Amino acid sequence: MPRFGLFADVQYADMDDGNTEGRVQRFREAPGKVMRAAEDFRTQEAPLSFVMSLGDLINGNNVNPVLTEQELHLILAPIMLLLSWRKIPTFHVLGNHELRLARGCVLQTLHMPASYYSRRLSSGWTLLVLDSTELSGHHCYPQGSEQCNEAEAFAAAHPATEREPHMVAWNGGLGSRQLKWLQNELLQAESERRHVLVAAHHPISPQAARKTHLAWNWREISAVLVASPAVALVLAGHDHEGGYAFHDGKHWLTMPALLEAPTGSNAYAIVDLRSDKIVIDGRSSTVQSRTLSMPGGELSVRKVWTCLDNEMKRTSTASGPHSAEIAGDHDSVAEPASKQDPASKRQRTEASLTEAAGTQAGGQQSEGPPSNWEELVPLDQLSKMRAAWTKHNRRALDTLKRLQEQVDLPVQQQLDKLNKQTTMANTF
Ligand SMILES: [Zn+2]
Repeated sequence: MPRFGLFADVQYADMDDGNTEGRVQRFREAPGKVMRAAEDFRTQEAPLSFVMSLGDLINGNNVNPVLTEQELHLILAPIMLLLSWRKIPTFHVLGNHELRLARGCVLQTLHMPASYYSRRLSSGWTLLVLDSTELSGHHCYPQGSEQCNEAEAFAAAHPATEREPHMVAWNGGLGSRQLKWLQNELLQAESERRHVLVAAHHPISPQAARKTHLAWNWREISAVLVASPAVALVLAGHDHEGGYAFHDGKHWLTMPALLEAPTGSNAYAIVDLRSDKIVIDGRSSTVQSRTLSMPGGELSVRKVWTCLDNEMKRTSTASGPHSAEIAGDHDSVAEPASKQDPASKRQRTEASLTEAAGTQAGGQQSEGPPSNWEELVPLDQLSKMRAAWTKHNRRALDTLKRLQEQVDLPVQQQLDKLNKQTTMANTF
């Protein structure tokens, strides 16, 4: 099973401690902390598969670019030296602070194959490293380049406001070409039934980081990730306070900054990707240890289907001509609960859901879904599936197919109906 060392936001600089938002930045302590973390990684009894830095290895604001480059080499040296003893590779994620240097210089120094890349790990896991500095005020692409033009256009169309506080130069996001690459990688992983670990510098989940630190186009990135059943864990740095959330069937973890770990402490972890769970071993009090269940296992496909159907009926009621057709389709896919699951507890749940669906299908004159439908359907799944359905119909179908396999329920008939309805779904 893949087991790896993890840290974020070292931000080394040869400068005095800083104080931002009441937190202390201990710039000169960073090399010692990184060395101790690397030594811990190196001396693990079972060798680690790799070590991952989530970006911002250096602070990078030295007025002399030569010294800035030297700072990058200096902080990298103990990592490379210690880990090379056991041939443990290091995977880097680009951070905004590294891009005070030229992109080519950073990629070469960090031995990165590209600014975003994938790695096939053992035991059916795939690592996708994103470049969330691409669509940014600090993208470091030349004027007139595709990336520069896209970043400028996005910034112009999304000015920073109270509601969009993340639209500042030191945040960033994925360009359209990279988003397409991400979609293709996820489809590939899904087709091979692999679990996916995603790593980006900028946080993508507003529940796992402060809104001021999110990626510029976190909504688009999130929609792509949420739509893929392969994605299990999404890692980020950048927000020095760190954070964690579970939503939309994925774990979202923002690592606290090593830079701000108290003197005498540290901020890194060892992550164990197992088939049934993910174990985060926080190797200091700054990083909380967690055992995360593998997402997806507890989801009922019938719940999702009912939720989709209710939502579709509710939405299309307003648009008129399609509602009767949808109701008819819905009626034909409802099956008696007794045929689907003999387990009594689950049967009761399924029966209540079927009853709710039947009420709606039978009552074609009704104004909408049953009054208690919000209690019966998982709302986070509803929003997830609706977003996926509208934008990525094929992926939504794949999601349902995967769910079908997970709970072993015969929903091919529902899928066939869903296929027929996707054109209509596009009109939402
Ligand atoms: Zn950063």
